[in-house]
Amino acid sequence: MTDKSKEIQSEIPPEQLGFDSRFKFSCHKGVKCFTDCCRGIDIMLTPYDILTMRKRLELSSEEFLAIYTEPKMLEKAELPVVTLKLLDDERKSCPFVRDEEGCIIYDDRPTTCRYYPLGVGSLSYTSELGEKDEFFFTVKEKHCFGFQEDKEWTVAEWRQDQGIDLRDEVNEGWADLIVRKKTIPSTIKLTEKSREMFFLACYNIDKFRRFVFESSFLDRYDIDENRVEKARNDDVELLQLGFDWLKATLFHEGEENFKVRQSG
Ligand code: SF4
Ligand code: SF4
Repeated sequence: MTDKSKEIQSEIPPEQLGFDSRFKFSCHKGVKCFTDCCRGIDIMLTPYDILTMRKRLELSSEEFLAIYTEPKMLEKAELPVVTLKLLDDERKSCPFVRDEEGCIIYDDRPTTCRYYPLGVGSLSYTSELGEKDEFFFTVKEKHCFGFQEDKEWTVAEWRQDQGIDLRDEVNEGWADLIVRKKTIPSTIKLTEKSREMFFLACYNIDKFRRFVFESSFLDRYDIDENRVEKARNDDVELLQLGFDWLKATLFHEGEENFKVRQSG
């Protein structure tokens, strides 16, 4: 299984696919490689993955991060991300895979697991215009027999079937922050404090909630009240608020939505 986040901006992939491109693939309990791809893998988790997985496992985001993830620094962007911590068994298995059943958190599996066997890349990104020149490609790994099945999909059908569209929509602000950081000159460095803010708002949603509602955050920033109320009761709204706050404080974009209140 290949990490969705692996960008291949400078490489030419074997075949670039669009939303209407077709490919043959099927993964089910009958394939002889069943669960092989859930071992020895590198899965970067998205903010929405953490939100849903921690809920499924009835853990706080702090507990989930401590038990199931490993921190990693994203090359080039130099931003902290988290990957799924694998078991220390012979095959380096995902903690959620079972030989017979397959994935025990299937409905809440990470975005990367949903994308497979598709990868995503971009030829260019114009942050000022917010335009992405995205393409897809199939990741054909030797151990995967899913490509020998007859079931045919378009890329758009696969994305919809796997719930990728929803996840990409929720995670868009996070992906945008990473691309923005990658495209600014490498001489411009974020401070350690800025990286901590990024980690907090993107991955530790329960701690971020306390930061927003139980610290002086709302005294410091003048934020639309409706937005604050929505975020109070909805994790996804809180994530979006966090992404926009990071965009304003780290990249000075949309600062009008997070005006610092005058003291005194
Ligand atoms: S989360 Fe589920 S689908 Fe993804 S690697 Fe683990 S067991 Fe496999
Ligand atoms: S068909 Fe491919 S995706 Fe499905 S279990 Fe086998 S290796 Fe994994």
